[in-house]
Amino acid sequence: MSDNEKDKQMNRFGHEAKTMIPDDAPLARNPGHKLRTSNVIVNRKALTDEQALLDSYKLDKPTGQKIQFYSEGNQTGVIRLGEVEEHDVPNQFTGPSYRNPPQRFRFDGHKMMHHLDRIQAWQNGERFAPIHIDMGLTKFCNTACIYCYAVVQNMTKGTMIGRDALLNYIRDCGKLGVRSLGFIGDGEPTLNPALYDATVLAAEVGVDTSMATNGLLIDMDRAHDLLKNMSWIRFNLSAGTREGFRRVHQSKEENFDLLVEKIKALVKIKKEYGYKCTLGLQMVLVPECFDEVIPEAKLGAELGVDYFVIKHCSDSEYKEIGINYDEYLKVGDILKEAESYSNDSYVVQAKWNKINAASESSLYKNGFRKYDVCHGTPFLLQISGNGKVYPCGPFFNKERFYIGDLHETSFFDMVMSDRYWAVHQDIANSVDVHKDCAIGCRQDYVNKFLWDLKNPPEHINFI
Ligand code: SF4
Repeated sequence: MSDNEKDKQMNRFGHEAKTMIPDDAPLARNPGHKLRTSNVIVNRKALTDEQALLDSYKLDKPTGQKIQFYSEGNQTGVIRLGEVEEHDVPNQFTGPSYRNPPQRFRFDGHKMMHHLDRIQAWQNGERFAPIHIDMGLTKFCNTACIYCYAVVQNMTKGTMIGRDALLNYIRDCGKLGVRSLGFIGDGEPTLNPALYDATVLAAEVGVDTSMATNGLLIDMDRAHDLLKNMSWIRFNLSAGTREGFRRVHQSKEENFDLLVEKIKALVKIKKEYGYKCTLGLQMVLVPECFDEVIPEAKLGAELGVDYFVIKHCSDSEYKEIGINYDEYLKVGDILKEAESYSNDSYVVQAKWNKINAASESSLYKNGFRKYDVCHGTPFLLQISGNGKVYPCGPFFNKERFYIGDLHETSFFDMVMSDRYWAVHQDIANSVDVHKDCAIGCRQDYVNKFLWDLKNPPEHINFI
């Protein structure tokens, strides 16, 4: 063996050991662990001080690879960037790790594992309250966005849930242990004057609230009530310019200026008073706004909102909105560019799981699901803006699945009733999710999870 070879670290097969350890890493005197293939024992304690971390930039040995440090609590991990990052992630774990820093929001998935008590109740055949309810507060709107699903939901001007029914319902949600309400779906929530009092009451009874709004009619005199009590407010905005706003939302260009001013004012109040409410923008992606993606990503950063999320457009089971999902395949680069505007305080994210459905086989693209039964509706319920309760939005107005009216029956009694559970059972028993349902409905992620739970593989104890 040459002197040169003696200097190299050889493994037990006589091959040169590859190591990422810098030559000058501090060595432990009484080592307890070995690192990778190396026989060199590194003193990890010594590596945790600032200076040692800086030195360890010498880890940057393989060509094209960069190192980034990630700290969580008192631990520091290494993320190797560069070529390695280009490869597909080999598993579907979405939680935080050194390589996958924690997601601030989970736009593209579900959070069911944080509600195991409800899952257990379901498995035991008990009656339980929904974890979350999406609820319309009106059945009309002040804009006419070209992508709006409400066009297939019998919108009627002036129709909305009454104040007393709404406030009683909120009290019942508190009593039942409903964990969150989203004033989302059907019409524009700010057109219901009871919105603000409902939000304050929900916080008092321990129910989280949020809303999706076009923002134009937010009563700024009640801004503190919203920001103090809501977990998040999402502005439905699918344009970053005045002209794009007119085109997609079919509203006046001056309304774009009005909305921008309101969002700025809300961001200012939130910061001044230290309110926790998350403020975000959501674009419903349709071909008419492909050119607005980057302007809106920039606008979100300027406004100081917390996020800008880009989602697919949900079409009905009869494809009444007429979305050609193949068009989404053309904009992957634009969406990636938009995501590059993210920084520590601003997240830009496309909902890739659903946007990429366009690259699935035509079977899945046209609505075929990766599960056969819908079990999700008792966990995630949807209520129409006129106070009528149905298991899910796509089935609003379908009498067979009508559960009751909040103007006539208390929500508490409804959830305890046989009718409520018979309707959910009817959904599970008779709906063909591949044909009868809107493509990628709200309960889709939850359904996939529950289907998996209901259909375990063999040997589940071998985790
Ligand atoms: S899968 Fe079908 S029945 Fe179930 S929530 Fe979605 S649209 Fe409704």
